[in-house]
Amino acid sequence: MNWDDFARWGRRFADWGADFHKTIGDRPVRAQTKPGEIAAQIAPSPPETGEEMEAIFADFERIVMPGMTHWQHPRFFAYFPANATAPSMLAEQLVNTIAAQCMLWQTSPAATELEGVMVDWLRQALGLPEGMTGVIQDSASSATLSAVLTMRERATGYTGNREGLNGKGHLRIYCSQEVHSSIDRACWVAGIGQDNLVKLPTHGPRHAMDPRALAKAIAEDRAAGHVPAGVILVTGGTGIGASDDLEPVLKVAADEDLYTHLDAAWAGTAMICPEYHDNFWSGVQNCDSIVFNPHKWLGAQFDCSVQFLRDATPQLNTLKIEPEYLKTTGDAVTNYSEWTIPLGRRFRALKLWFLLRSYGLEELRRRIRNHVTWAEELCEKLHQTPGFEIASDPILSLFSFRGPGDDAAQQRLVDAINDDGRIYLTQGSFQGRKVIRFQVGQFETTREDVMMAYDVIREISERLR
Ligand code: PLP
Repeated sequence: MNWDDFARWGRRFADWGADFHKTIGDRPVRAQTKPGEIAAQIAPSPPETGEEMEAIFADFERIVMPGMTHWQHPRFFAYFPANATAPSMLAEQLVNTIAAQCMLWQTSPAATELEGVMVDWLRQALGLPEGMTGVIQDSASSATLSAVLTMRERATGYTGNREGLNGKGHLRIYCSQEVHSSIDRACWVAGIGQDNLVKLPTHGPRHAMDPRALAKAIAEDRAAGHVPAGVILVTGGTGIGASDDLEPVLKVAADEDLYTHLDAAWAGTAMICPEYHDNFWSGVQNCDSIVFNPHKWLGAQFDCSVQFLRDATPQLNTLKIEPEYLKTTGDAVTNYSEWTIPLGRRFRALKLWFLLRSYGLEELRRRIRNHVTWAEELCEKLHQTPGFEIASDPILSLFSFRGPGDDAAQQRLVDAINDDGRIYLTQGSFQGRKVIRFQVGQFETTREDVMMAYDVIREISERLR
């Protein structure tokens, strides 16, 4: 393909993209295909000779598009959204076109320097203290793994990487029972082991970790000869939005000299609204590490996860490696690949810059406040509807409910709703029962979309009866 053809196709794709987004609401939210249907339509072997872009694009529309679930659909109420605002998509197009690999300052100085400034813009937007630095990662899972590795290294006097973990006792990490599975996986991968991830009971309206139970578990572990290494807190758990009271938990961690990491993957975005700070953010300045995903609620196209660090030194002592071929000369510069596990890095800061400048914080806050209000409104309507019960109250824009019947009936209702295609939601579990999760967070969602969800849920529930 020559660059004139590239420009022609680029214009065509931009037109296609605008039409796609203007009419996305007419499509089923969740793909309505059966497993294997898409793969069966694709040539089983690669072509020996090149094909025309016209033919490739026609197959994209015919084969690929029917197999896509539409994450940018305004009635996407499943999981959490992966919002991609138009300005962030445009920035990604530029990034794709420049196609730089931004592992070191010198491999793209602008990418590194913009990243530093964007992390600081977001630090200010979220009300985090001056002096906190950070890095953009691909996912919250990677940031959490980085923090867990740091806990491990710090607790072993930075000897784990060199010597392995043999003879170092059972390293223990503490969290509530409501954390995301990425915490479990980080402990597996870091060699801590599932059995050494101590999950503590929760209490109160926000299902917070009990700090007394934390202190007791640490004391018992020390008495048993184990090695407490860190505490992982959550603001906005995935299942029901569980949120720890940061201050008392961080106090226990500080008394015990434990490294702390806060997973605020989706709910962190809401902290651009100062009115949520009292309930969710009090004490946050004392977290050693915090992760939140601008690719979820904020609108930065996937992937974009920001990890803030109170002091970057422990993580650098854990992850930095500098073979000859990566050494740089000249003035002291930041090489962000030393802060993370992958060496290669995409230029993720550009989409944050475009997004934040294009909308401004006040417009982003307006959307979040609307989402929270509409989630509360829908929850109240379901609460008033015979046959429905609210399983967990709204925490920010997430709540869960049950329709008529047992656990199997809940799954039948979820499946029937998603087969219908007008809305998309997913199930979860709470207090040993299957629940139906509902989150409002898609960037283009309107109040009408949320109220339509109520009609669809009721209509399909009645049909199933
Ligand atoms: N933590 C929480 C609370 C989440 O809700 C999620 C995903 O929804 C994750 C972590 C994992 O995020 P990622 O896909 O960026 O690894």
